[in-house]
Parts: sequence; C-alpha cells; structure tokens
Amino acid sequence: MSHVEHIYIHIPFCTHICAYCDFVKSRYQPQLADKVVERLIEDINHVDSISIKTLYIGGGTPSALSLNQLELLCQSIAQKWPIIQEWSVEINPEDMTFEKMSLLAKYGVNRLSMGVQATQPRLLEIITRHHSFEDVKKVTAWAHECGINDISYDLMYGLPTQSIEEFEVSMHDVLTLNPTHLSLYALTIEPNTAFGRQKIQPVDNELEGQMYECAIRTLTQAGYEHYEVSSFTKNKHYSKHNLSYWKYANFIGLGPGAASKVNNRRWTNTKNIHHYTLNEKLIQEDIQLSEYDQVIEKLMMGLRLNQIVSWNHINHGSDIRNKVEKALEKTQQQGWVILNEEGLQSTASGRLFLHDIIVTIMQAFDE
Ligand code: SF4
Repeated sequence: MSHVEHIYIHIPFCTHICAYCDFVKSRYQPQLADKVVERLIEDINHVDSISIKTLYIGGGTPSALSLNQLELLCQSIAQKWPIIQEWSVEINPEDMTFEKMSLLAKYGVNRLSMGVQATQPRLLEIITRHHSFEDVKKVTAWAHECGINDISYDLMYGLPTQSIEEFEVSMHDVLTLNPTHLSLYALTIEPNTAFGRQKIQPVDNELEGQMYECAIRTLTQAGYEHYEVSSFTKNKHYSKHNLSYWKYANFIGLGPGAASKVNNRRWTNTKNIHHYTLNEKLIQEDIQLSEYDQVIEKLMMGLRLNQIVSWNHINHGSDIRNKVEKALEKTQQQGWVILNEEGLQSTASGRLFLHDIIVTIMQAFDE
C-alpha cells in the first residue's frame, strides 16, 4: 500500500441529535462507545503508515466521549504517531469540559474545529443546538489556557427564519474571538432528518446567495483569505487535513461510515455501528476509480480552491487536457475559470457555479 499521510477518525456519537443533521451518528451510549473506541484502537494499530502529517477526529462529536474514552483514544494515537503536524479534533461547546480540553492538549492536539452555527439563542433553539455563545467563549478561553490557539469555528447560513443581519451579527460575534479559521455551511434539508420529516423548507436560493456574498465581504474585510469555497483563514492557518482532500492525496478513514482513498481505490466502512464493533460486513462500498473518475474528482476537489489545478496534477494525457479545455471554453468566457499553460483555476464568481462547471466537463466526456 502506498504511504498514507492523512488519517480521519470518525466518532459516531453525539450528546443529542440536531434536527438538520445527516451525518453517521447516534446518541451517545457509554457501553457502545467503549466498544467503538476499543475497535478504533485496533484499527489505529493496524494502519501501515508509521508517520503521518495530519489526523482529524470528527463525527458525530468526539467531545461527546467520556474523559476515559478520549484518553484511551488519544493515548493510542500518540503512541502510534508521536509527531503529527496537524492534529485536529471537532468539539461541541455543549459537551466540552476543561478536563477534556487539557487532556487533548496533553496528547498533542493542536487544532480545534468548534461547531457554533449561529450566536442568537432563538436560532440555536430552532436548529436544536444545546449551547449558547457564552459556552463558545468559555470553551475558547479553555483552549487558549491549555495552549491550543489554532481554532476553526463553523457557522451556518440559510437557517429557517434567519435574516442576513442575524448572520452578519453571528460572524461579527465569532470574529471577536480572533479565529484562525472559519468554515461556513449553507443549511441543506435532507429527507432523513427531523427537518426533512417536518418538511421544513430551505430558504430561497437568492437569499442564500446574498448571505454567501455577505460572508465573503465581511470576512475578507476582516482580513481573512477566502481560500476554498467554504473556508476562510487568517495568517495562512489553512486546514492542512482538508487540503489533502482537495489536493486528492491518499487518506485512510477509520470508524463507522468513514471513507478511504488510496491511489485508484476508494472504500467506505459500514455505517452500522454494531457491525463496525464486531468487525462484520466492514466494507460497505469498495470501488476501483477509473481514469475518468479520477480526473473528474481531481477537478471537483481542486476547483474548490483559490489556486491553480495544474495539468501535471490531472496527469492523464493530452487527450484529457484537450477535452477539458474545449469543454470550458464557454465558462472561460463567462469569467468562471481561467485556463492557461500551467493549468486551470476557478474564479470567485466561478466558485458559485462549481456544479455547473463540473457538469459541463462531464458532458464533454460523454460525447
Ligand atoms: S452535533 Fe454535529 S454531528 Fe451531532 S447531531 Fe449535531 S450536527 Fe450532527
């Protein structure tokens, strides 16, 4: 197996389930969580790579684990990989404690991703989040006290009844915490969620677009670099782990529902937590990526970034390059992409229409 430098670990538990959430998760159950952690530790010990660059513990909510479970997990990671350039953990202010924070810091976690979503109590109630902005501030202070200063905050827009002004206030509130990174997500209503079952309607596209533009304006004026469709950073604190996905590096995902990609193979673990703990029917999907799949995926991921996707990176011969160039002639005239000898790059306006750009390329391959 090729050397893999990026590891994702999925914790499929949350203290409570948010009405809009479509991730692989279940309500935290201590005994089941014990088994998942035990199984994750076995998986960690079996990973081939002896050195890695980034590790990301996401979920679900890793901070929903007990102190003891977090300790076992972090201990096994730190033993296996004593040096990790970027070790991120997702946390929810609802279930974070000072003890958990100091434990993460003790084992070498150096980056946090905190779910804030909005700062108005009424909006947090609508989306069934059980924390307040006061909690966010408190947890942020703990992180700094423990020496973790690289903190990314997630905010959402397009929430039911949310106004642009409220979204702007949420951004300004979070900016008072001097974040190194912000990730912004539009609410999508998935059928399998409480919102989907309640037939909650998404906000109209126009308002959602205005909110996105407002975010770009507000955050760039505040000195943030908009380096990826949903991501902003100050002083180049890019998410190195997410960059590995956007740059199509190999990665291994551990835990229920986690995906891995190594060269031209992609596989996804079962989403069934019990099957995962028993090591039964572990792989839910295992696919060999064709040359076409890889080109499309490299473009889908690479064009999200505000940087050139080089022809060398796409690396599948001049035929492919000709097809992509021909397909994108029109989008180039529309000002959505820039094509040159080195490669191609989406423009700020093009990043609003990435889906259309990719469909155009796919159609050219179908001809
Ligand atoms: S805390 Fe995050 S992962 Fe858990 S239910 Fe809420 S949105 Fe989903």
